[in-house]
Amino acid sequence: MRILILGPQGSGKGTQAKRIAAQRSLPHVATGDNLRAAVADGSELGRRVQPILERGDLVPDDLMIDLIRDRLDREDAFVLDGFPRTLPQAEALDAMLAEIGKPLDAVLLLEVDDEVAVGRLEARAAEEGRTDDSPEVIANRLRLYHQLTEPVVERYRAKGMLLPVDGEGTMDEVAEEIAVALENVGVASR
Ligand code: AMP
Repeated sequence: MRILILGPQGSGKGTQAKRIAAQRSLPHVATGDNLRAAVADGSELGRRVQPILERGDLVPDDLMIDLIRDRLDREDAFVLDGFPRTLPQAEALDAMLAEIGKPLDAVLLLEVDDEVAVGRLEARAAEEGRTDDSPEVIANRLRLYHQLTEPVVERYRAKGMLLPVDGEGTMDEVAEEIAVALENVGVASR
């Protein structure tokens, strides 16, 4: 099963993606985690993307598309989290999945208001000390989400593939809503 999860930073997307992946024994493909790991390793990729992550900007599309192509070539099923974030990335994803015969089964959207997202991100900044969670960087990331990632949401909505879920409840409530949304489109819970 191939599930894409979309939503702004602070929507709980990473947490829910991990839960779906664990419950269904699927790999959690999270581009943000991969990039942070590259930064921590000090690899060439890491050195290149570190300043971009620190500003909360987006890594160039061609680099992200190459990274994800390598990864998805190796996986039959996955929960994809953090990609695509722009229309060119979405077009590349759809083309590459069509080419390898692995279409998406479901596209989830976690919906939360900006104020809720900002409150959660500030709380996480205090707990984890992520350098991309300062107020300026949070604002930049949300701005880029509205400007560049919302068109991706609309693309999947127009294709009739989008499953919107209220992301403002507790972790368990949101997980339950996701399970119901997936069941409604015939993606069994386990
Ligand atoms: P995330 O953990 O998904 O919020 O990602 C953390 C950071 O990694 C983002 O703020 C971007 O700088 C970068 N990043 C992750 N995924 C992508 C992507 N698909 N396109 C561009 N940049 C990305």
